[in-house]
Amino acid sequence: MEQQDVVIVGAGFAGMYMLHRLRGSGWRARIIEAGGGVGGTWYWNRYPGARCDVESMSYSYSFSEELQQEWTWPHRYATQPDILRYANHVADRFDLRKDITFDTRVISAIFDDRDGHWVVGTDTKGGIRARYVIMATGCLSVPKIPDLPGLQEFRGRLLHTANWPGEGVDFSGLSVGIVGTGSSAIQSIPIIAEQAHHLTVFQRTANFCIPAWNAPLAPEAEVERKRNYGALRQKSRNSYAGDYADEYYVSILGLTLEEREAQFEARWREGGFNFQYAFADLMESAEANELAAEFVRKKIRATVRDPRVAELLCPKGHPLGTKRLCVDTNYYETFNRDNVSLVDIKNDPIVAMTPGSLRTRSADHPIDVLVLATGFDAMTGALTRIDIRGRDGATLKEQWCQGAEAYLGVAIAGFPNMFVVTGPGSPSVLANMVLACEQHVEWITDLLDHARSKGIERIEANPQAQKEWARQVTQSAARTLYPKADSWYLGANVPGKPRVFMPYVEGFNVYTGICQKIAAKGYEGFHLTGAQ
Ligand SMILES: Cc1cc2nc3c(=O)[nH]c(=O)nc-3n(C[C@H](O)[C@H](O)[C@H](O)COP(=O)(O)OP(=O)(O)OC[C@H]3O[C@@H](n4cnc5c(N)ncnc54)[C@H](O)[C@@H]3O)c2cc1C
Repeated sequence: MEQQDVVIVGAGFAGMYMLHRLRGSGWRARIIEAGGGVGGTWYWNRYPGARCDVESMSYSYSFSEELQQEWTWPHRYATQPDILRYANHVADRFDLRKDITFDTRVISAIFDDRDGHWVVGTDTKGGIRARYVIMATGCLSVPKIPDLPGLQEFRGRLLHTANWPGEGVDFSGLSVGIVGTGSSAIQSIPIIAEQAHHLTVFQRTANFCIPAWNAPLAPEAEVERKRNYGALRQKSRNSYAGDYADEYYVSILGLTLEEREAQFEARWREGGFNFQYAFADLMESAEANELAAEFVRKKIRATVRDPRVAELLCPKGHPLGTKRLCVDTNYYETFNRDNVSLVDIKNDPIVAMTPGSLRTRSADHPIDVLVLATGFDAMTGALTRIDIRGRDGATLKEQWCQGAEAYLGVAIAGFPNMFVVTGPGSPSVLANMVLACEQHVEWITDLLDHARSKGIERIEANPQAQKEWARQVTQSAARTLYPKADSWYLGANVPGKPRVFMPYVEGFNVYTGICQKIAAKGYEGFHLTGAQ
């Protein structure tokens, strides 16, 4: 059986850097990746319009000064092909491919209690033994297929945004239906509408969208940022969201009506996520949040010509930002096109799929192609799909059946020598995730190096420390408006999934500080033991 020091599962931004960092510390490591190439999210999500919504000069690796200086991002927010090109460039530049096994899915990871090794099983070859397993399996890597009545009857083409054909799809002359109105739908709808004969958008919940104002990155701006890259990265590391935009400088309720409107307008003009992170009380005060929400609704009503459609597109029933904010280009404008219609499936639910249509209670909608933009089994889905058995044969799936708990979002009691990059209980999806991946990778590598230097062979989260951390994660979220929405942060989009708020909401900077203190105290909250 192949033997490694470390098996890494997944070759997205987390797994790639994990391999590079471990190699640098003298560990023998191999990545197992289900896809045919590197890039993770950006390998799979090839739908039209896919792009990042954190600025690319921030949403990129910071670990190599040479890399960040030599790479040029053509746009403020890069397209999926550009991000995938970047991932491939990183793989080549750091010679990662020779230690990656592609087209291979990890199906099991079994801990051998006798000698403290993991045996990792795959769908294509014999197992690999390794002292450590690192799950870099992604927070948003398991697409969710909705339970549409009679879906198997549909004879048209069925697509999921997160599993898009590499060769692309030509929608010319076709009637297209899209289910879902989260980020992926909001990015793809304007592009599909330009091609399709007709596009019907089936909306259950309207989401808040802030304009991206995406544009080519001016060469002077690039030069200036590159000159200050070190300082910008430092600013990101010290920030709530792991980004270099200015944050939390103003309190909505402390402003006069005129000041407030001016601030909202300024943030709207700036565009992107900072509409959420600019304001100190937005996620804490329902009153402040409603003022911001109403500002966005006014923008929607001013953009969409048909007042009935505009009203349907106005998000109601959840505070702004409690479902992942969407960053759009021409989303609301698209509903002014003659070939686009909006169906409210909350009040007119889908009752059946037929061979050539999607039927709601009140109407039959003929479609040739159905696009599912229905999101992911977020944060835990990739882990619970692997048969992970820890000490005493306990399975992770059983352990998490009441809700996912992980110490610092990085290690799980009962599963020694296994680590999760950006797991539940870490800031992960509330932060710039490339930076969140980097922080975890560096922290895990330091821990492994520490263990090796002290002759430690077993690292396991202490159950009490894990409980206490989970309590803090839940309590922190409860002090905010986040749990007020049925969001995927809470597992609410997957029927039967326990409702536990998964990301750590106190901020990337606060979290990083805690991780540093824990390391400085000799990895408090972990059992570190030598050879058994
Ligand atoms: C459309 C989209 C847009 C996004 N935009 C942003 C953004 O702008 N900013 C931001 O911060 N974040 C964004 N995200 C979140 C994004 O997932 C992260 O930014 C980042 O790419 C995560 O990297 P990762 O390596 O942790 O996970 P992933 O990129 O998801 O990679 C995980 C890899 O693990 C593999 N894998 C999983 N299970 C197994 C298994 N059992 N066996 C083998 N391989 C396995 C998968 O195939 C995948 O390649 C976006 C997500 C999506 C879906």
